[in-house]
Amino acid sequence: MIYLDHSSTTPPSEAALKAMTEAAAVWGNPSSVHSAGREAAALLERSRAAVAKSLGMQKFSQDRLFFTACGTESNNIALLGCAAAKKRDPANPGTVLISAGEHPSIDNPAALLEKRGYTVVRIPTTGGILSLDALSEALAAAKEAGSPVIFAGFMLVNNETGALYDVKKASSLVKAAFPDALVHCDAVQGYMKTPFTPYSLGADTLTVSAHKINAIRGAAALFVSAEVMKRRNLTAVMPGGGQESGLRSGTENLVSIASFAAAAEEGRQNFGERRAAAEALRARLDERLARLEPLGVRVNRPEGASIPNICNLIAGRMRSETVLNDLSGRGICVSAGSACSAHAKKKSAALEAFGVSPDDADSAIRVSLSHLNTAEEIDAFADALELVLTTRQQKR
Ligand code: PLP
Repeated sequence: MIYLDHSSTTPPSEAALKAMTEAAAVWGNPSSVHSAGREAAALLERSRAAVAKSLGMQKFSQDRLFFTACGTESNNIALLGCAAAKKRDPANPGTVLISAGEHPSIDNPAALLEKRGYTVVRIPTTGGILSLDALSEALAAAKEAGSPVIFAGFMLVNNETGALYDVKKASSLVKAAFPDALVHCDAVQGYMKTPFTPYSLGADTLTVSAHKINAIRGAAALFVSAEVMKRRNLTAVMPGGGQESGLRSGTENLVSIASFAAAAEEGRQNFGERRAAAEALRARLDERLARLEPLGVRVNRPEGASIPNICNLIAGRMRSETVLNDLSGRGICVSAGSACSAHAKKKSAALEAFGVSPDDADSAIRVSLSHLNTAEEIDAFADALELVLTTRQQKR
């Protein structure tokens, strides 16, 4: 099998699997005060320190890192937890700003808040560029309307196009206009792909997810700045036993968390090498895809910055599902848009926000690379794509 769908999920590394197996033997509840519990709590805190280090968090800072079950949960806690943290005027609860390309785990909770009376503004991301002019206009309009921005969410890297958004600049614009707004960054696709820390992005809260970085599924993290904790700008959306300082109740999934920590540590140590490998693979992919232009293959490359790991392409006039199935029959795994939009069976909002026409979006394929891929695999993919497109076109 040739796996070129690393933005959907990644195979767990050996170190992540080893950490998982070892953690399974540490079965105590980290909240228990007896020795079995203390052993689990120690492993939990060692894991937290490793993930915190991978995010460049300072050892003695008051900033916090909470474990959740998935990136979706971290994003929901950030947005819905921010909305619920303060008493809001039902007639004018405030404004939520998000980018138009956000993942459904931000876009759907934002739509929920919209139904509850919040003003939600989606900032255009045409061509993979977060429009800072549109953001400034939205901030001015919120001021004018007397509807303060309570939350602004900008993903670091778009999961379908690989576009890298200028979160730092967006955050400073938001903070200058509304100093009390919570600025959130969904960094799920940027984690271990592009260098950043929550500080370099000006993020108050930030999400990363384990299964995108070669750990097993079942764990993710939410960075929360000391300032947000102090101002009580975030509250639990799922009240319970008070684990994770009360922000995310439920007994921690230590097996996944330990695996996450091992993968984070590996990713941190090998960042440069892995990034260079992805760049070389993308160069190879670009070269091979350029040869398929006569078959109608085009790359949707963001005009601004992007990460080398994600390549969105239009496969001629073929429907992506057809190409995907043909490729899958040849042992090649890629996806149409993102796995989540495939599940929702609706047109990709991110591609629409990028400016891809509905016809082209029907033929969009996402190839997502990792350091585990080889140049031979890229060649095999390009050969198979050429064969699939020529065979299909002959049949028409
Ligand atoms: N945010 C982005 C940008 C993603 O790509 C994904 C998953 O694909 C998520 C959030 C959700 O992460 P999880 O699968 O851990 O819930």
